[in-house]
Formats: sequence, C-alpha cells, structure tokens
Amino acid sequence: MIKKIAILTSGGDCPGMNVALKAIVNAAINNNIEPYVVFEGYKGLYDNNFEKITKEEVKFIDRKGGTVIYSARFPQFKELEIRKQAVNNLKAEGIEALICIGGDGTYMGAAKLTEMGIKTIALPGTIDNDISSTDYTIGFNTALETIVRAVDNLRDTSESHNRINLVEVMGHGCGDLAINAAIITGAEVLSTPERKLDVKQIIEKLKKSDSKRSKIVMISEYIYKDLNKVAQEIEKATGQETKATILGHIQRGGSANPIERLLTIRMANYAIKMLIKGKNGVAVNITDNKLNTKDILEIVKMKRPSKEELLKEYDKSI
Ligand code: ATP
Repeated sequence: MIKKIAILTSGGDCPGMNVALKAIVNAAINNNIEPYVVFEGYKGLYDNNFEKITKEEVKFIDRKGGTVIYSARFPQFKELEIRKQAVNNLKAEGIEALICIGGDGTYMGAAKLTEMGIKTIALPGTIDNDISSTDYTIGFNTALETIVRAVDNLRDTSESHNRINLVEVMGHGCGDLAINAAIITGAEVLSTPERKLDVKQIIEKLKKSDSKRSKIVMISEYIYKDLNKVAQEIEKATGQETKATILGHIQRGGSANPIERLLTIRMANYAIKMLIKGKNGVAVNITDNKLNTKDILEIVKMKRPSKEELLKEYDKSI
C-alpha cells in the first residue's frame, strides 16, 4: 500500500490545476496516503523543492486561477542524470508515487520516471485539448468560455464600427479551441490547422459572407506569421477596416468554471482510485463521459482524432 505521494503541475498552466491539486490532496488523505506538493514541476523534483500538504492548506485554492504550486518549463529533465537526482530526492523522502498534471511533455516526463521505479499517474492539464486519448482536457472548457466572452465583446464594437476582426486563439496545433469558439460565436471565417485557409481564401469568404457589418475571422495560432500584415491585406482587398486581436495568455488565466471543476474533481478522485488499484505509467481520460486510463506511452503515439464532424457542424451553423 502506497503511503506517500507527491503532486506536481508542469508545462503551460491552465484553469483547473488548483482544483486538481485540492481534489487529489483530499482523496489521498481520505485514503490514508500522505500528500506532498512539488513546486515548479519537474524542476522542483530536481531542486528537492517539495513539502507535505494538508487539507486545510488547499481548502480555498480551487477558486484561484494558475497553479499555486507553480509550473516551469524544465527541458533539462530529458537528461538521465537530472532525472536520477529527482528520483533520489523522492526516494529520500519515502515518496513512491507521483501525480503529474500537464500536457504531453509532462506525460513524457512521467513515463520516464515510471521506467526509473517511481509510480506515476498523469492528469491532462492543458487548455489546448490536444491529448488524443481524452475527449476533454482540464482547462479546455474554461479557456473556451474566455474566448467566447472576448469574441462577443469584439463583436459588439466591430458591429458598431463596421469592422472585420481577426482573432487568434491558442491550440498548439489542435483546432478544438478555434473550431468550437467559431461555432459558438458564429465566426464568419475559420482557419485552423485541420483546415488552413490562405489569405486569398479568407478574402473570398469574407466577400461572400451574408453579414453586412461586423465579421469575425477565427484563427488558430501558428498559421500566419504576422497577423497585422494579414489584416492589412484583407482591409486593402475588401475596403473594410480590419483589426487583428491576439488573445494570448488571457486564455490560460482565470478560475475554472463549474463544469471544469466537476470534471477535474472526478478525474482526480479516479487517479487516486487507480493508484490504489496498482495502476502505474497511465493517464486519466474521459471518453463518452466515462473515466478510464491508458498507458502514457500509448497516448503519446496516438494520432489526433479527426475534426471533420466538428468542422461540418461549423459549416452548418454559419
Ligand atoms: P503544454 O501542452 O501546456 O505546453 P506540456 O506538459 O506539453 O504542456 P512541455 O513544456 O512540453 O509542456 O513539457 C513540460 C515539462 O515536461 C518540460 O518542461 C520537461 O520538464 C518535461 N518533459 C517534456 N518532454 C520530456 C521528455 N521527453 N522527457 C522527460 N521530460 C520531459
């Protein structure tokens, strides 16, 4: 029976990381497991920066955005010697298992620790929804809400001033945030990694649009080098004032919405249940509203699910 576990958040932060931390601490203590927190992800493991945590200390953190135990990009963790130090630090404290909350990079770190004798369970913490084994990642729902509110605000002012607005959203190569936000906000044009448009095609679509005044062009990050230049080209070709808005890190902030909190608590409780059952080197998923686990090494090799159905939904809605 596992007696001590540690919890870390790693990679890009997302709404819900604190909810996950609180739920894991509660579930662990309720099962007579002592929880520790690691500060700054894998960097904290290497720096021996972890401490024991109580239920009282996490009581109110679920209302906060970001991650109270911090996150870090620590590429050095790919080096075996660095990981050996981290494993030694964990073993010196008697910690046998680690719950890692993060994206696919975080998953890789967890898989490597499993190979080195530390039991690991990962939770999908990323706004991008780019982990193929799960329908939803922690953070996606809240980030989508943030985007929708921002685009609704842009729509108000664009309609008043007869403007086209290009809106760039995150996704790290996955179109889920952009496609879903485009459906919800009725964006007139959509360009995502799964269906990239060149500037000419965007202009054609804008010219054909039924919208008389404001037009929103929803764009995933990394598609165009310079969004302001794209806006200038569009303005020249359409004769309509065109602005570019990059939502950026605003999408990562804020406290998790209720649906996100519920999903996260369910995933966290399940993670502890699976750990007690002896699962190791796996990540928690939700598929068709059912919780399950899959080997991390299988997950990182999985192909991205097709977005065709979702794109068809967009086409029908516009
Ligand atoms: P996001 O999707 O939000 O970017 P992420 O978890 O994918 O989150 P990364 O920066 O890619 O973010 O990875 C987080 C951390 O995981 C890295 O900083 C590094 O410490 C560790 N990591 C990533 N890849 C590996 C690997 N191949 N081996 C060991 N550790 C890794």
